[in-house]
Amino acid sequence: MKILVAEEAGFCFGVKRALKLINEYLKNGNTIQTFGPLIHNIPVLNNLAAQGVHSVDSVRNIKKNKTLCIRTHGIPRHVEKYIQKKGISTLDATCPLVKKEQKIIEKLDKNKGRIVIVGDKDHPEIIAARSYARKVTIVNSLAEAEALPACAQMSVVAQTTLNSEFFKQVVAILLDKAEKIEIFNTICQATQDRQQAVKKLAPQVDAIIVIGSKISSNTKKLFHIAKEKNKNSLHIETCADLQKPAIMAKIAKYSSIGVTAGASTAPEELERVKNFLQNL
Ligand code: SF4
Repeated sequence: MKILVAEEAGFCFGVKRALKLINEYLKNGNTIQTFGPLIHNIPVLNNLAAQGVHSVDSVRNIKKNKTLCIRTHGIPRHVEKYIQKKGISTLDATCPLVKKEQKIIEKLDKNKGRIVIVGDKDHPEIIAARSYARKVTIVNSLAEAEALPACAQMSVVAQTTLNSEFFKQVVAILLDKAEKIEIFNTICQATQDRQQAVKKLAPQVDAIIVIGSKISSNTKKLFHIAKEKNKNSLHIETCADLQKPAIMAKIAKYSSIGVTAGASTAPEELERVKNFLQNL
């Protein structure tokens, strides 16, 4: 069986940076908690938990004697203010590209006009990003974009992990909704590179395996793109998901398989899947 790995796959710069910051901090004997899971990947989170890094899910549960690591997706402003007020020490692992998106929204809030964020309103990145303006409109489907009333001025920002094609489609609709419109393509390069790589790889192989958490936004989008180009696409969280007899029998029939992984999937997991497929 031929195994081809996408040219861009796995850990992105933001995730590598966050893990490096935490590891260096832990080496100095410090203790850390994260506000919400650091990234959406269970094996990586289990590994952090083994080193005493646990996540808290609400401000009430933040321990005052532990450093709070701000995750790659960032945190809402009211949480940031609460932390400052309580004097809790922080380690800011917000991805610089998420920070850039927040700064754009903060600046836009000083202008007149509607601010539209294209993305998932329930995703932590968007929950944090929207707190940088008094009022934003979140759009996550073409129908929602169509339903927006016309206005004089509009600014459009994207969730960093959005599907580029989807963003273009939404923008095409919004262009008719405002007399003046400003578009900020804040989809991060790592996301775009991984999407392009799977788009290129999917038609060249019999099947595609996408590795990453089922709640990871960028992984779900990679899978969606893979599926559009190759109907034999499979989304797994870890290599263990492949070790089921029905799945093994199915993939053993393919002569070529493409593998990709979301931005929060560790290289070791990708390697495990590659080795497993090679030995099938
Ligand atoms: S996917 Fe992009 S925005 Fe998100 S952490 Fe990685 S580099 Fe940053």
